[in-house]
Amino acid sequence: MAKDYYEELGVQRGAGADEIKKAYRKLARKYHPDVNPGDKTAEDRFKKISEAYGVLSNEEKRRQYDSVGHDAFVSGGQGYDFSGANFEDIRNTFGGGFDFDDIFGDIFGGGNRRASANRNRVMRGDDLYYNLRVPFYDVINGNEYELNVSHSVTCSECGGKGGEKKACPTCGGTGQTSRNKGGFFVSSVCSSCGGSGQVTVKQCGTCHGRGQVESKERIKVRIPKGVDKNSKIRVPGKGNAGLNGGASGDLYIVTNVQDHPVYRREGDNLYVDVEMDMFEAALGEKIEAPTPYGAVTLNIPAGTQPGQKFRLKGKGVPMLKGGGTGDLYLVMNVKIPAVAYEADRETLREMMKKYATNVREELLKKGKI
Ligand SMILES: [Zn+2]
Ligand SMILES: [Zn+2]
Repeated sequence: MAKDYYEELGVQRGAGADEIKKAYRKLARKYHPDVNPGDKTAEDRFKKISEAYGVLSNEEKRRQYDSVGHDAFVSGGQGYDFSGANFEDIRNTFGGGFDFDDIFGDIFGGGNRRASANRNRVMRGDDLYYNLRVPFYDVINGNEYELNVSHSVTCSECGGKGGEKKACPTCGGTGQTSRNKGGFFVSSVCSSCGGSGQVTVKQCGTCHGRGQVESKERIKVRIPKGVDKNSKIRVPGKGNAGLNGGASGDLYIVTNVQDHPVYRREGDNLYVDVEMDMFEAALGEKIEAPTPYGAVTLNIPAGTQPGQKFRLKGKGVPMLKGGGTGDLYLVMNVKIPAVAYEADRETLREMMKKYATNVREELLKKGKI
């Protein structure tokens, strides 16, 4: 029989928290009653290692234990009394800050145990994220979606309590225990019930003590005009349900806005390439140009250059937080033909004499400076 908690866990006195946890983890897996059904020796051993871990994993308790020594600590009632406790109680004992899933996840299959370990703690539910594919035109017009969202909700069978409860026998329902320490009483949070003053008598059959069940819900979501890639739209209270009266988390719709084959977006502005012939660009032309709000007719002036931009005010993307609409830029892409017939070439040469700008001569002059 081990003479102290360190020996119980097989670690040195100076062992770090990680080492202690690791040692406990290993032993707990080996001796846990759920993996040794009906084995009284394993059960006793499990209680002992749990007791040792309960003290050594708690900084304050470990310090006390180290200073007074094993016998004094145990006889002073500062250890854990497991006599008559069932294993549900033992799980509850480690409720506060003890991640049962972490250690027993693969034994119990995870899920329920976490809620069980945290049974008495008020916890806000998790936020959920829903990735929604949003076509380009929703950015312009806004849209409404009905989404099938899977989240946890409070179990209606037990009202989230996880089952029938009764006053905790360890603390008599007060949530506090007090012990005599050198002539005066020190009170602390009851370790059996985590301070709630209640323990579960009969587990709820619907949620298996979790207090929550998974549920699908159709949720209407309004996608506002102007959303961008990875905009987050918050739907309050539609995340996972909280525990023990904790608030529900929120649902965030993350917009995965699709690219448009024609319009390029930069912030609130849009760009569209418009192709023109050299002749149109030279002579000027009335053209029809696309905008997300319908085609518009406009006069492109004579002498329009390749890459020149024309701004259509207010034909871009509506601003997400209001305050107007961005602009649409038409980017002129001028097509220049290779002239194949000699007669046409001659015509162009004649024109060149009139219209040539000698731009490169300017450049050569500037290049010397
Ligand atoms: Zn209690
Ligand atoms: Zn229930």
